[in-house]
Amino acid sequence: MADIPSTARVVIIGGGVVGTSCLYHLAKAGWSDSVLLEKNELTAGSTWHAAGNVPTFSTSWSVMNMQRYSTELYRGLGAAVDYPMNYHVTGSIRLAHSKERMQEFQRAKGMGRYQGMDIDILGVDEIKGRYPFIETHDLHGALYDPNDGDIDPAQLTQALAKGARDMGATILRFTPAIGVDRQNGEWIVKTEKGDIRCDYVVNAAGYYAQRVGEWFKPFGGRTVPMMVMSHQYILFEEVDAVKEWSTNAGHKLPLLRDVDSSYYLRQEKYGFNLGPYERNCRAHWATPDDPLPEDFSFQLYPDDLDRLEWYIEDALARVPILGEGGVSKVINGPIPYAPDGLPLIGPMPGVPNAFEACVFTFGIAQGGGAGKVLAEWVTEGQTEWDMWSCDPRRYTDYTDHDYCVAKGMEVYGHEYAMHFPWHTWPAGRGKKLSPVHDKVVALGGQMGAYNGWERANWFAKPGDDTSEETTQTWDRAGPWEARIREECEAVRDHCGVLDLPGFSRFWLQGDGADEWLRGFCTGGIPKIGRMNLVYVADNRGRIMSEFSCIRIAEDNFVLITAATAQWHDGEMIRNSVPESVSIRETTTERDTLIVTGPKSRDILSRITDADLSKGWLTHQFATVAGRKAFLIRVSFAGELGWEIHAENDNMPDIYDAVIAAGAKPFGMWALNSLRMEKGYRAWKGDLSSDYSMFEGGLDRFVKLDKPQDFKGKAALLNEKQQGSAKRFVTLIVDAGAADAPYMSTLWQGDEIVGETTSGAWGYRINASIALGMLRSDLAVAGTELEVEIYGERVKAVVQQDQPLWDPENERLKA
Ligand SMILES: Cc1cc2nc3c(=O)[nH]c(=O)nc-3n(C[C@H](O)[C@H](O)[C@H](O)COP(=O)(O)OP(=O)(O)OC[C@H]3O[C@@H](n4cnc5c(N)ncnc54)[C@H](O)[C@@H]3O)c2cc1C
Repeated sequence: MADIPSTARVVIIGGGVVGTSCLYHLAKAGWSDSVLLEKNELTAGSTWHAAGNVPTFSTSWSVMNMQRYSTELYRGLGAAVDYPMNYHVTGSIRLAHSKERMQEFQRAKGMGRYQGMDIDILGVDEIKGRYPFIETHDLHGALYDPNDGDIDPAQLTQALAKGARDMGATILRFTPAIGVDRQNGEWIVKTEKGDIRCDYVVNAAGYYAQRVGEWFKPFGGRTVPMMVMSHQYILFEEVDAVKEWSTNAGHKLPLLRDVDSSYYLRQEKYGFNLGPYERNCRAHWATPDDPLPEDFSFQLYPDDLDRLEWYIEDALARVPILGEGGVSKVINGPIPYAPDGLPLIGPMPGVPNAFEACVFTFGIAQGGGAGKVLAEWVTEGQTEWDMWSCDPRRYTDYTDHDYCVAKGMEVYGHEYAMHFPWHTWPAGRGKKLSPVHDKVVALGGQMGAYNGWERANWFAKPGDDTSEETTQTWDRAGPWEARIREECEAVRDHCGVLDLPGFSRFWLQGDGADEWLRGFCTGGIPKIGRMNLVYVADNRGRIMSEFSCIRIAEDNFVLITAATAQWHDGEMIRNSVPESVSIRETTTERDTLIVTGPKSRDILSRITDADLSKGWLTHQFATVAGRKAFLIRVSFAGELGWEIHAENDNMPDIYDAVIAAGAKPFGMWALNSLRMEKGYRAWKGDLSSDYSMFEGGLDRFVKLDKPQDFKGKAALLNEKQQGSAKRFVTLIVDAGAADAPYMSTLWQGDEIVGETTSGAWGYRINASIALGMLRSDLAVAGTELEVEIYGERVKAVVQQDQPLWDPENERLKA
């Protein structure tokens, strides 16, 4: 009983590669009074049997950052902690079977170069030079990633463990955590050998994360959104030709990924390791007749090669010498999947001082970076890189078991799929429906999911091709394009209506609400009867969130924010308001219509008793179609318009009346184009914690002279004096077939000078627009740059710091 410490600053539950990396990074940050509990031996979960591939490739900026960091860490780790290990940086070749795949590679190359990596594109005739045993006749080309490689996952974990121990951290093996309690603001992590009191706790329990997560439910927790897939790789015996080539070359063959066929093929000693992500995949521990065992340490599932037959044949055709070595071994092990295939790293939703670093699908590749990110979350409450893509709060209440299983299988079966901007994934849909959902669909709405809420992306007309096949393109053109144009034109010339269920709404009332809000946000707050945007920054003055702030009375406000921000922003508010202020969340009780366009006043005047002469940014209670509603005079589309907020029961009548009065339905894709013409930022695209408030061009929403000491004030004061490194700009782009996607690089001559944060065609101004961040000295109207779009550099010109459409906001204020 005496061999475990009674206190620790942090207790990490789980000793796989991820938990160990968390401990290592906490110790590196000086928090060496941290303890890791592992129920068996280190690596007993998924880690011990992982193939150990360590790619950097990703089309997500943050995931690429995390993986890049891992490779950098792993290269020096053995020497740094004096624990030599097998890490082969072999490089990798990703094969492209289509033009679109080459475009995806070009995009990753651009992002990689921005992060300092020499990712390269290979023509078909260059592939054999790097990989002589390959058939290339049906390929379009390849991507070469020199940083890719493979590492021994057990050695990696042990190296991290040694490093952590050497810095004073404690690892307790064969010590399962068996529960948690919370007393006097401290966590008590229970083990059979005694309790450990601690300030923070981290769930790093791999495929047991959901079970560990259950313990936190009495303290505000939720069911961890995850499921488990079975993944197999096949080891092949030695092949003479590989041995000869490898011996002569003095290194291994590069790792091969045939992403369109969906497998990796790696040299393992002088044989091969083939790992398919098969379409006809298999979930495990997902049904009552296949329960998660109490213990699965160092265990595997039985082989199931039938599922892989097609992939084996495909690989044999691609690299025929693979057939020269027989199968020596099959490894079939559990991999946890979150519904989007990305891990959960960050604050545990709803639970104080608890964090998650679990549900890793590529934990070997991401473990190094994940440890850094987690340690930052715990020790600083914020991370260097914006990590929303992995933030546990990106999921809310809709991720039930069936959803997680359906999405996990979908992601696994399309592990290497391209994520086209026009494509919506079909699994796990219909989780949250607007009260007018059926009406929207009946009008031709082509739906997409936003925090589980179904919203129309565009409206198809009879005869339009709405098949999945048409969406497999990065180009602007497709069956939707003419409709988006028509929808934008209807908003420009007439009146459009968009049903927007799922806005996150928080009603705050009580003494001190005014004073609290002034200290919560960076800028000014509205007068009674008005609304304005308010922003919240972090300690470094970086953008955390944006709210529409509606002031009903002196100490009575409604804060409205993006659907996806529900738990993120809800938590920020709840953790900050004083006791005298009550919070009522009405996200699911109400629905919103955007009714906007020059004819919106005429249309609404026929169906509402609201005073439609009240000015821009005012609000009022009224009836619409005889139903109670709340109208705000604002339009994210940048035309005359109102948001109509109403309780769900009231919305069907209101929607019918708005449509009957002549409003044309429009969708999210039109809205995206319209908002970009106004320079309105989108959360976690243009507005992210990668940028400060000033960099984001949000100066007018920062009041440094107010008495309240809001978060980030000191940093912003400092930035004001020192100047900002980057500046938000609007660009007009000479785009070809595709507009600039997120994180396209901006060039001036041979120098990278910034990046885009969003891009779309503007149908009112008839031009391709990009919003982005540019080196401050270049952020001057008229500066000519180039933006790299899927590998092609095209001209981009910096615009005036004002909206491209209706710069004086005359149409809004009409
Ligand atoms: C066949 C296969 C091949 C793979 N190949 C790769 C690859 O090439 N590259 C890659 O990046 N990833 C790969 N993966 C995925 C990778 O294995 C996982 O993402 C990674 O190991 C996850 O690490 P982890 O630390 O999060 O979880 P785990 O390794 O599962 O660690 C969790 C630990 O928590 C412990 N634990 C659970 N409950 C408790 C408790 N109550 N108290 C104390 N301890 C507890 C467990 O014993 C376990 O050791 C592969 C997976 C499989 C199955």
